Amino acid sequence: MYNQIFKLHAQLLKALSHPKRLEIIHLIRDQELPVSDIHTMLDLPQANISQHLIVLRDAGVVKSRRDGKQIYYSLSDKNIIKASDLLRLVLIDQRQNLALIDELTLKMNDLVPLVHDPVCQMRLSPQTAGFSYRYSGKTHYFCASGCMKKFKESPGKYAKE
Ligand SMILES: [Zn+2]
Repeated sequence: MYNQIFKLHAQLLKALSHPKRLEIIHLIRDQELPVSDIHTMLDLPQANISQHLIVLRDAGVVKSRRDGKQIYYSLSDKNIIKASDLLRLVLIDQRQNLALIDELTLKMNDLVPLVHDPVCQMRLSPQTAGFSYRYSGKTHYFCASGCMKKFKESPGKYAKE
């Protein structure tokens, strides 16, 4: 019984254990998105995205809903993104311990996103944005690598003062 729980725990982590899948869950942290948007934002072939989404869905991390021709994905449980944010904080400063918990609590309470992705206009919190890039003295935040790539290709088009 006890062992079984660790097995299930490991299976869940295995489903999350890929950079692109972590990127997907960050992308849909506050919203439901159609596959086509996830595809554009992540800059990966559609087949590849579908494969990752199947792994996440089979593990119960995401759920899908069909509307016409489009399939929409969202997180099955908000605790998934909390767990991921927690691990992100561990990475940000592995030396902090008690202060880390305070910081996390503050962040969880900070539900109002502070910036917009300059490419897709998604509202983001700088602390949890998937990607950031400095351009002409300003840090820009992005939902995912696809948007950051577009920005880097023609920053003048997207950057606003
Ligand atoms: Zn974006």
